[in-house]
This record gives sequence, structure tokens and C-alpha cells, in this order.
Amino acid sequence: MSSARALVWFKRDLRLFDHAPLAQAMQFESAAGLLVIEPEWLHSPECDPQHVAFYLACAAELQAKLAALGLPLLVRTGSMPAVLQALHQQWRFTHLLSHEETGPLWSYRRDQEVARWSTSASVQWLELPQNGVVRRLRSRDGWARRWLQRMNAPTAAEPTGFKGAAGLQAEALPSLRELGLSTSGRQLPAAGEGAAWHTLDDFLAERARPYRQALSSPLTAPHSCSRLSVHLAFGTLSMRSVHQTTEARIAGCGDRELAWALRSFASRLRWHCHFMQKLEDEPSMECHNLAKSVNGLRAGDGTPLDAVHTERLQAWCEGRTGYPMVDACMRQLRATGWLNFRMRAMLVSFAAYHLWLHWREPGLFLARQFLDFEPGIHWSQMQMQSGTTGINTLRIYSPAKQARDHDPEGRYVAQWVPEFGSSAYPQPIVDEVSALRHAKETLYGLRNSPQAQQQAQALQDKHGSRKSGLPQTGRRRAGAPAPQPSGQARLQGELF
Ligand SMILES: Cc1cc2nc3c(=O)[nH]c(=O)nc-3n(C[C@H](O)[C@H](O)[C@H](O)COP(=O)(O)OP(=O)(O)OC[C@H]3O[C@@H](n4cnc5c(N)ncnc54)[C@H](O)[C@@H]3O)c2cc1C
Repeated sequence: MSSARALVWFKRDLRLFDHAPLAQAMQFESAAGLLVIEPEWLHSPECDPQHVAFYLACAAELQAKLAALGLPLLVRTGSMPAVLQALHQQWRFTHLLSHEETGPLWSYRRDQEVARWSTSASVQWLELPQNGVVRRLRSRDGWARRWLQRMNAPTAAEPTGFKGAAGLQAEALPSLRELGLSTSGRQLPAAGEGAAWHTLDDFLAERARPYRQALSSPLTAPHSCSRLSVHLAFGTLSMRSVHQTTEARIAGCGDRELAWALRSFASRLRWHCHFMQKLEDEPSMECHNLAKSVNGLRAGDGTPLDAVHTERLQAWCEGRTGYPMVDACMRQLRATGWLNFRMRAMLVSFAAYHLWLHWREPGLFLARQFLDFEPGIHWSQMQMQSGTTGINTLRIYSPAKQARDHDPEGRYVAQWVPEFGSSAYPQPIVDEVSALRHAKETLYGLRNSPQAQQQAQALQDKHGSRKSGLPQTGRRRAGAPAPQPSGQARLQGELF
């Protein structure tokens, strides 16, 4: 492409392998990479310094790899339109190449501004998909098949070299301190594309073997779950790479136990995109209940929290609710930035049903704690575990049952709540029996109304999963986007 200049905008896709915009940039006369630390991100209520620290560590590895291929990675701090405008004056790029992003509201609005800027500057912005999320989806029918087609498609050409951008040099990445942030003190996992592949290989080779039995307990899950969520969230690995490497491992593995475990893992990769698709289709769901019938029900839904619920929220965030399993999970999460699925669900269920808190504030707090924060999964799960989707079975987790099932000897609680059993440990913050009676009576009453049922059907059509027609991958687990129950079954609350 003579005189065409490509600017590759890196967002949450900090890798070389299977990076379609990067592969396209090789065709251009000259190219440069761009990484922007946006104040809108730093100031967003979901952002925590741990995210920025991990992002910068991934970016440092990426910058070195790109430099070796002759592509300078420019680093700017500022709002996107202003950054693009200044850079365009300096270096008249003709194309902006990036991946599509399903992000929170601030990034959604930013993308709209970037689109406007590109049009006004006559720059062609090419956005390419990087997972199974479909932009401008018309219908959920056939979605799973489409996901599989995308995942089985060849990976993008590996970059071998770039023609270079005359006069542009790579720039140093800022430190946390230069960005005005202090470290969270947490030990972060190894960052970057190399670490991501190592985590995947290590999981597929052996770590996955007990996956199905081990993923529910907070004692065994940290080792036996893949721990790939953070790499998928920051894009150090593409979903297609994980899918294809896993399928190849299954195909070449004569070990039935391991293959069975990996099948179970592989099905979750589809859930990842299934949940992200919901936010893509309905960006407002990060702030508003999907089911309008539950609007205004809980504390903090449209009105400020009163003193009682403020104290409940505070106690939940600090891991001092007087429910040892809840407090242990919260403390583990705060210390490490990760928690397994079941325990995440229990924390949210406790906030929603026991404490009667609306999901938005607890969700923002958890978003800051989860290093793997992925908006589409996160807000879908916050709503699902709080019973505000209108289409999922109400799942109320009993902390005592979770402790019996997944920490029968009390080792996990002893590790994270050493004062449990002494006078230093608080009394339960709410009475479980009366709190759950109130929650169930209120919610079942609402769900039974004709309006709620009508709305549930519309929500199911728009967001619910369809029977995929894909091979069955074993018994469905909590959190799986299975075909939704209908009629009375949908109205039953289950105690987990
Ligand atoms: C309230 C709540 C909030 C959550 N927020 C996030 C989030 O911000 N980011 C995030 O990646 N996951 C989130 N999850 C889903 C799940 O808990 C994590 O994906 C998982 O614990 C990550 O660990 P892993 O990579 O070892 O998972 P594995 O068990 O090894 O699973 C492999 C991958 O499959 C996907 N996956 C697994 N379970 C789910 C699920 N239930 N829904 C969607 N995708 C899934 C993830 O990409 C995960 O990395 C949330 C769950 C709940 C209940």
C-alpha cells in the first residue's frame, strides 16, 4: 500500500501472536504502535492500581518484542481524541487499526469519539474482532455455531517485520508513581505474553487433571483452575489460541481423565464470550437491572444507601460480616486479586439476598479487587447472582453449606479468619433465616406477575443462550449459560 501509514492501537490485546491489526500493519508502507494510558480509565470506578501495574508490565514486554521487529510503540497519556489529533499532526497516519472492545461505559463513549475523530480527520479506522463477541448482533440464534467457526479459523499471520515509521521512536512507559498511583501491595502474577503461554501450557500438560473436582473449593481451585482469566482480560493470549491449543491437546491426549477435564474447561471458553455478548448488546446493563420488575427493590437501587446498609456494605467489603466463609473469601480476594467462580458467586449472593444490597456498589468494589476484571462477564454475573436478570433461577448460596461442602475441615477459614471462634470475631451481621425469608417472599411475588413474565420472555429472546447443537460437554455447573428453565421452575429459588 503505497504511502499508506498504519497506526496500531493496542488496548486490551497486549500480544504479538494472533493479533489481526498487527498482521495487517505488515502490508503498509510504514507503521507504528500506540498505547495510551487514558485518564478516563484511571479515574473510572472499576480501576485499581493493580490493573494499571499489570497492564504496564505486559506493555513493557510487548514494547521490547515490537522493537525487535522494527515497530516503535508510542506511549501517550491522555484522552484518545486529543492524543490522536496531536499524533496525526506529527505523523500523517492514514489508517487506525485496532481490535473491537466490549468495555465499560467510559470506553464505549470513547470509541464513539474516536469514530467521530477518524471521520473528521479522514483516517480509516478498522476495528477487527478478537473473540466470539459479535458486533451489531441481530439475533442470538446460531451464536454458538458462529463462535466455533471463529475459534476454528486460522490465527492471524505472525508478524515477521515492519517497514518502520520514519522519525518516530518508541517512548518510555510511565511508572505508577508518574501516573499518580501507589502500589496495592499485592503480589501480581507474572505478566506478558510469555507468562500467559506458560500458564496455558502448564495447565494443559498436567495441572488440569483434577479440574472438575477441584474448581469449586477455594482450597484446590487456585492451583487446578487454569488461571487464564487475567491473560484473556488483558489480551496477552487470544481466545482463539486458547481454544485451538486446548482442542489440539484433547485430540492428542490418550488420557481419558485429562481429556474429560479439558472438555469441561473448553466449554467455559464459550461462556466467556456468551456473557460478554450481553454487555455488547446492552451497554446500559452495567448500571441498570435487566429485569425492570426489580427496580428500586434493594438498598442502593436508585437511592443512596441508608446508615444500616452502608455499614453492611462496609462490613462485607472488609470481610467482617460474622459469616466465616464469606469473610474468608473476601480476605483471600483482597490479598490475592483472585477467587474461584463458586466463591465469587457466594459473595455476591450474600450481598444481594442476605444483606439486601443492590449489585452496583458491591460490583464496583469487586471489579477493583478482581485482577481479571472483564466488564461483560462481570456485570452479567453480578446481575445473575443477584437475581435481577429476570430469566435465571434464583441461586441463593448458603455460606454454611459452602463451608461444609468445600472446606469441611475448616482449613480455609482458619487460614483467612484466624480469629474465628474467639471473642474478637463479630456476631453475624444479619439473621440468615429472616433475611432470606424476606428476600424470597419479595422476589417470588414479583416474578409471578404477568408483566414480569412477559418481560422475561423478551429478555430470554435477546440475551438467553440457545441450545447450541454443539457436542455436550458434561453436566452443567453453576454459572453455565444453559437453556433457561421456564414456567414454575424459573420461579423456584434454590439454596446452594
Ligand atoms: C460475580 C462474578 C464476577 C465475575 N467476574 C469475572 C471477571 O471480571 N472476569 C472474568 O474473567 N471472570 C469473571 N467471573 C467468572 C469466573 O469466576 C472467572 O472467569 C474464573 O474464576 C477465572 O479463573 P480461571 O481463569 O482459573 O477459570 P477457569 O475455571 O480455568 O475457566 C477458564 C476460563 O473460562 C471462562 N469462564 C470460566 N467460568 C466462567 C463463567 N462463569 N462465566 C464466564 N466465563 C467463565 C474465563 O474466561 C476463564 O478464564 C465472575 C464470576 C462471578 C460469579
